[in-house]
Amino acid sequence: MKAQDPKHNSPRKKLATYYGLAILIIIFLNYVVFPLLFYPRPRQVAYSQFMRDVDSGIVTQVEISNTEIQYATREGEQVNYFKTGIMNDPDLITNLEAKSVEFGAVIPERPNTFLSLLLTWGLPILFFVMMGRFVSRSLQGRMTASGMSFSGHNAARIYVPDEDKKDFSDVAGQAEAKESLKEIIDFLGDPQKYKAIGAKCPKGVLLVGPPGTGKTLIAKAVAGEADVPFFSISGSEFVEMFVGRGAAKVRELFEQASKKAPCIVFIDEIDTIGKKRDGQIATNDEREQTLNQLLTEMDGFDSNKGVIILAATNRPEILDPALLRPGRFDRLVRVELPDLQDRIALMKVHMRKVKHAEDIDYSLIARMTAGASGADMANIVNEAALRAVRMGREFVTTTDLEESIETVIAGQQKKNAILSDQEKEIVAYHEIGHALVAANQTGAAPVQKITIIPRTSGALGYTMQVEEEEKSLMSKRDALNRLEVLCGGRAAEEIVFNEITTGAANDIEKVTQLARQMVTQYGMSERFGMMALETSGSQYLGGEGRLSCSSETAKEIDEEVLALIQKSQDNARDILMANRDKLDQLTAHLIEKETITGAEFMEILAVEE
Ligand code: ADP
Ligand code: ZN
Repeated sequence: MKAQDPKHNSPRKKLATYYGLAILIIIFLNYVVFPLLFYPRPRQVAYSQFMRDVDSGIVTQVEISNTEIQYATREGEQVNYFKTGIMNDPDLITNLEAKSVEFGAVIPERPNTFLSLLLTWGLPILFFVMMGRFVSRSLQGRMTASGMSFSGHNAARIYVPDEDKKDFSDVAGQAEAKESLKEIIDFLGDPQKYKAIGAKCPKGVLLVGPPGTGKTLIAKAVAGEADVPFFSISGSEFVEMFVGRGAAKVRELFEQASKKAPCIVFIDEIDTIGKKRDGQIATNDEREQTLNQLLTEMDGFDSNKGVIILAATNRPEILDPALLRPGRFDRLVRVELPDLQDRIALMKVHMRKVKHAEDIDYSLIARMTAGASGADMANIVNEAALRAVRMGREFVTTTDLEESIETVIAGQQKKNAILSDQEKEIVAYHEIGHALVAANQTGAAPVQKITIIPRTSGALGYTMQVEEEEKSLMSKRDALNRLEVLCGGRAAEEIVFNEITTGAANDIEKVTQLARQMVTQYGMSERFGMMALETSGSQYLGGEGRLSCSSETAKEIDEEVLALIQKSQDNARDILMANRDKLDQLTAHLIEKETITGAEFMEILAVEE
């Protein structure tokens, strides 16, 4: 293995620095700190005192250096140490000799017994070694956690144990995906059957679909159904965690997998390593090596061994075509956002996990969640369960679910956000404006709920429309209706207060986006007709498209978009002016109640004056 990893050396260097410092500290302790602490320090006395002590015969030892005199005295059992300055005293030596005082070392040398050596040198060394061990272990722990040392004993990290076992009954809907994966399951169950005929099973299957639609779940379920081990790793892990070692990791992964065959290897977010390689100014060597290694491994292993690679991506359009060639990921399975029926099924699957009332209105919940993914649905159920606990109930009700849909979509209710009465009035008129325009259209989705309780997401209120049934197509009429409804809020503000606020910012964004799409993508403008003016962005992530026309045309597009929006604004204003009484009446009701249902709304609207 090549030692490419630049980070690999630095922990060792750090360790060396650490031990160097430790040794310095131990030396410092032994030569400076311990002597100061444990060995007697001579007390400073005057020279005359020294002479007196010599005369009285208690001095036992004297040491004369160039700068000072140190001496020891003994009175009975007590030994004391003193020091004093040097004086020009020629008689000193004779005096001392007269008293037969010893010359030489006064302060006793440190006792060099084994025990004290152990205490002063052994103990600190032991301490620092232990510290070093501990620190380097925790350092290593962090490295392992981030995947840096991923070899030998790491199998458990990517091997998902059986407790997490899933099967197809955990996957709601996705009938087509399940259908096309049946063959794989069958193969894993009985490879011999296929070998006998000489049929080869696909090596790789690519699961393609928006985030949260259950691609990981389906891969796990395939492993569960076939009762084989499931290895999983994500593409971004290769790129971010195994810096410089992505290719080696791929090799290791395949080594491990072939030992456990038959098994499933799941590579999530494969687009992070499998991006198109051509046409890039800045190439990423690292990623390219990882990708090449993956391709080599896939070409190299014998599919009849029973290792099947499932990979997932939500950006199939950026994948390198080399990945999709025969013998690699040659099967493509689409995992789509759930439709109405699937959302009902999803709701039921997730509601199995929580206690709930008998009379859950699954159809209503499913209709309220158009466009939500499986992950969103799981999240909604969980929020509903949390809400039930907050409310002190022991089971989840339809109301919990309704409220949690709003939580997931619009953020938590912000109970203590204070709107002044004036602001509340503006917000109420704004929301009723949306609702009233919607109510006056033919074929528009009915209003489900209007509220002016502020949300943590920053929305001050909102109007929720729920389609009667699932719609996959949007007609031009629908689109125009939508534009008008979006303009309704601002229009109401204008009519009532003759003043406009920032509250319509979100509406403006949506209106502009839709109007632009109508012109550039849906061919809904008279001026351009069927001409495509924009290449669509990401298929599943809805990224921005790119204009594919001349700058003059771009200008015309802007004009066309502006005209659409202005027309919608005028229409919305007309509708509201014609219903000015109802606008006031409904707003007053909303201010009082803060939240009203679609039914209440229609009731007030239907009353004849
Ligand atoms: P993806 O890999 O497509 O981003 P996941 O498989 O991670 O999505 O899905 C996240 C969660 O959403 C799952 O753990 C599951 O709880 C829920 N989920 C998504 N799709 C489904 C489905 N079809 N049936 C049941 N649960 C689903
Ligand atoms: Zn609005």
